[in-house]
Amino acid sequence: MTGLALISAVRSNDGAFVSQRTRLARLTAWAMNCLGDVSWAVWPTLCAACDATIDPGTILCSACQTSIADVAVVGRCERCTSPLPDEAGPCGRCQGGGIRPLGRVACLGHHRDALRDLVHGLKYRHRWAIADHVASRLVLRRDVVALLDRADVIVPVAMHPWRQVVRGFNQAELLSRSLVRARSLVAGITSARPTPLPVVRALRRVKWTASQTSQHSHAARVRNVRDAFELIDDQAVTGRSVLLVDDVMTSGSTLRACARALRRARPTEINAIVLAAADPRHHRDAVRSR
Ligand SMILES: [Zn+2]
Ligand SMILES: [Zn+2]
Repeated sequence: MTGLALISAVRSNDGAFVSQRTRLARLTAWAMNCLGDVSWAVWPTLCAACDATIDPGTILCSACQTSIADVAVVGRCERCTSPLPDEAGPCGRCQGGGIRPLGRVACLGHHRDALRDLVHGLKYRHRWAIADHVASRLVLRRDVVALLDRADVIVPVAMHPWRQVVRGFNQAELLSRSLVRARSLVAGITSARPTPLPVVRALRRVKWTASQTSQHSHAARVRNVRDAFELIDDQAVTGRSVLLVDDVMTSGSTLRACARALRRARPTEINAIVLAAADPRHHRDAVRSR
């Protein structure tokens, strides 16, 4: 073996060793993560957002509770969720046009900090208690209660059947049912309509799409979800006020694609509630509509 070949062999062996070590580290991290999630489901003593140690009986540490309370108090445009300096003032982003054909959209806060970690925990770490927790915070918002009160039916944004098999659940549906439960708990205080809202799977996702957050332009996000949804339950929608529910709104393209599919059955209106909305300051075209 020549000197050059010997050097390359050593490099190759070293590279393989490093690669194996990296793989082992990743596997260990994944296993620890799974173990942590299993133990969290049984005995949640870690903050659902940041994994800090907490007292039993709550799911968030005080820092994350403060972070979420901060994002939840901001006044927002009732049509596109953009933050407003004055809740009564005109929205400089959508100019009142909103995200058509949706009427109004409400959210808990921006998709960042503790709220982003909660979305991640709900979707990817099977921390389902998060759904009830965030729903209980959502129903304290006046704009959320107003949308729940005028709705006749809740339609969760549909997930592709294969993705749902892999994940095991649709977080939008989980959130929808938590909203119904949370609303019934506070109905006597904040709502005049205590009748439980039906949650109906009226849409089917017929196209496998990449995540909207991985799309880097408005055009790409629109293309990604074009014709992605099909209406499968006209009767649940016709002549009714429909409330779409999803976990995250990036630019509104997914909600808009759902609304277009629903519109074929002539609902009286379509509004939406999302857990978190991308900060429109980071998406210049986030509320481009029409
Ligand atoms: Zn925390
Ligand atoms: Zn607006």
